[in-house]
Amino acid sequence: MKRNTWQREAVRAALDDAGGFVSAQGLHGALHASGSPIGLATVYRALADLAQEGDADSLQSPEGESLYRACSTADHHHHLICRNCGLTVEIEADAVETWARSVAAENGFTQAAHVVDVFGLCAACTAAAATLREPS
Ligand SMILES: [Zn+2]
Ligand SMILES: [Zn+2]
Ligand SMILES: [Zn+2]
Repeated sequence: MKRNTWQREAVRAALDDAGGFVSAQGLHGALHASGSPIGLATVYRALADLAQEGDADSLQSPEGESLYRACSTADHHHHLICRNCGLTVEIEADAVETWARSVAAENGFTQAAHVVDVFGLCAACTAAAATLREPS
């Protein structure tokens, strides 16, 4: 049975508003800024619950931080994430699905699952960085 406390609903709504991937601390900061008295530990717990039930995607940043996002689809998918502005693009990766299945089968693995997310600089941030570097 799902626990639908107000804390959880608040976290869910804040996640929707955030758009891209956010850390528990980032989300807690946003909730506080909007006047919510919710505690950081509660935010951590609510995010873990949402992720476990498939209501949110979770991934590890290259720095090892857990990030969460309310994704547009519960179907298996991958992400391109801008490490500068947090822009997230949901992508399908048929080549990855095929490769993961075959490499698992070759090694006798069943029920294989994988998480593949690509971090980089989005087009806008790449253009902004180029402008900064150019002496005008
Ligand atoms: Zn997603
Ligand atoms: Zn960006
Ligand atoms: Zn995949």
